[in-house]
Amino acid sequence: MSEKPKILPAVKGMNDILPSSVTRKDKLPSSELWSWFETTLRGVMQRYGYQYMLTPVVEPTALFVRGLGEVTDIVEKEMYSFTDSMNGDKLTLRPEATAGIVRAMVEHNALYNGPLRLWTMGPMFRHERPQKGRYRQFNQLDVEALGFAGPDVDAEIILMARRLWKELGLVEGEHVRLELNSLGQPPERAAHRAALIAHFEANADKLDEDGRKRLHSNPLRILDSKNPAMQPVIEAAPKLMDFLGEETLAHFNAVRAILDAAGLEYRVNTRLVRGMDYYNLTVFEWVTDQLGSQGTVCGGGRYDGLFEQLGGKPTPAVGFGLGIERLLLLIDELGLPVPSSAPDAYAILPDASALPQAFGVLEALRAAGVSVQMHAGGGSFKSQFKKADASGARFALVFGGDELARGEVGLKSLRDGTEQASRSLASVADWAAELRTA
Ligand code: ATP
Ligand code: MG
Repeated sequence: MSEKPKILPAVKGMNDILPSSVTRKDKLPSSELWSWFETTLRGVMQRYGYQYMLTPVVEPTALFVRGLGEVTDIVEKEMYSFTDSMNGDKLTLRPEATAGIVRAMVEHNALYNGPLRLWTMGPMFRHERPQKGRYRQFNQLDVEALGFAGPDVDAEIILMARRLWKELGLVEGEHVRLELNSLGQPPERAAHRAALIAHFEANADKLDEDGRKRLHSNPLRILDSKNPAMQPVIEAAPKLMDFLGEETLAHFNAVRAILDAAGLEYRVNTRLVRGMDYYNLTVFEWVTDQLGSQGTVCGGGRYDGLFEQLGGKPTPAVGFGLGIERLLLLIDELGLPVPSSAPDAYAILPDASALPQAFGVLEALRAAGVSVQMHAGGGSFKSQFKKADASGARFALVFGGDELARGEVGLKSLRDGTEQASRSLASVADWAAELRTA
């Protein structure tokens, strides 16, 4: 006899997203939560005039090396890169969305007719140590406003994220809060960089191996280190804010003025740098205290130099990436109310000969916008009623022999004790509305 085939589990750090009816050991958010998030999100994007787009999951490795910067955590140690065995091309599973979107814009000369506001959503890949809120395949919502130079769109995308929190029931200031900084322009950063190198050189003994390695290649990255032992020397480092010129400060203050007027509270965090080299001027993060060290739910900023770096015309741009798993974990942990995804009605079909007729009724109900789950697989009246209860539906539709013989279907509320009533099969459209969730 041949051996029973072994189970092949998913790749470490890559997760299935499943309905809540499946009991799983990890506490990853359910697919119902995902669906609700997606619906909410689409509504918000629509209201701000952002258009949906998609790019491939696989891109040339060079895109990320050039776009994100050679000396970044992502490019140095987190990318899933491989050689296409058919033609030898060097390819990478995208670790973030912005570089791919900019590539697409340049390739299609997409801003020819003017600026664009775009969003996309999908899986990103980073070879990190998997833990709660940190995975090797994770999903991002990504928002980009392309071709706008002013502080107005910086504020717009920040307030758009805030709108999303509101719609999802997250309380700003309590569950999520905003941190804001300006990274200035290249000459300002160069002056700061020189001062940083001098500071870290004088304190080289206090740096870890990564820090020493980056001292000259990318000293700004040292500020992004998560090593607690290095925090004092990072704290004492010269602040970029002190190197910013008039124009940069005017841009920053204009963003702040809009946020202030919108009543949004935020902290100016002069230590806030981002994981990619492409940022300038405004950078921000929406953070939470509820997810341990995976506290950044959403991060972004301006990246006016990236188009040119990727071979395009100089084009101002600003955007953010939001970690969907982290956001949904947060919503789950806070126990925020999530709208039910249960059907309006559950169809009980004790008699197989009634199926053809019942199917006609169910289709008429669905055409009228009612969600009806059909009981499949037969079984007793009682066991079908049990399933109807468990489905969370508000009504059971009973296609019993007696009812059908009278040209009717039984209608029973599963929420209150009201007696079973009946409705005519000849006039489904007339009573469909009473089943529909308001
Ligand atoms: P972190 O500092 O936590 O590593 P990051 O700065 O690398 O985050 P970004 O590149 O700015 O993250 O990506 C935007 C968002 O995507 C993050 O704020 C986070 O919510 C989410 N994210 C990033 N990496 C992961 C991951 N490995 N697993 C799950 N979500 C992630
Ligand atoms: Mg990271």
